Amino acid sequence: MGWLYEGVPDEEHEGHAVGVLGNGVIPAYGSGGQWSEMEFRDGWWSPGSGAEDPGVEPAWLLPACVCGWRGERVGYDPQAEDAARALWDVHMDDVTVYFLTVAKAAEGLADALETARKEGEYDARPLAVVKALRVTQARIGSEIAVAVGAARARELSWELIGDALGVTRQTAHERYREVAAVPARDDVVVSAVDRAVDSAVDALG
Ligand SMILES: [Zn+2]
Repeated sequence: MGWLYEGVPDEEHEGHAVGVLGNGVIPAYGSGGQWSEMEFRDGWWSPGSGAEDPGVEPAWLLPACVCGWRGERVGYDPQAEDAARALWDVHMDDVTVYFLTVAKAAEGLADALETARKEGEYDARPLAVVKALRVTQARIGSEIAVAVGAARARELSWELIGDALGVTRQTAHERYREVAAVPARDDVVVSAVDRAVDSAVDALG
């Protein structure tokens, strides 16, 4: 049994770490007329029936998924399996994002805006629409900052946060280094969002 993600059928996405030898070779074994790459699990090679263990530690672990996804290989040490698993978790974040209430809300917003546009609201009162969208943008910007704070609270790297934001590690750090690394459930943060939205609304005058 490899790495599983709750709510996702394991025939679609099941993760595991593949061992890579120092010369870059991934040991494989044949069974039933098929070749399979040898997995590395709980500190051991995990070969199929009758396959020969390479007899040495892997030099790297390569996170992989049954869907065909491959992550960056990580240098082998006792923490490498956890590191490989963390990379697979990021892959699962990408493929299961549609599960999120936040993603559904974004879809609902896009639909509502499209309806308003088609019904002529943009043409009838374009400046009012620009202002209303600016408030929406400010609200979403604040929510992103809160989510970044939650990521920091979980000690996720600026590299991963930058990836999620679609910017470099440096840019992510410059933009959000002032954000408190606290869970988003905290009232303090939520009221900070509310304050930011209030000031955006005030700015509309
Ligand atoms: Zn997958």
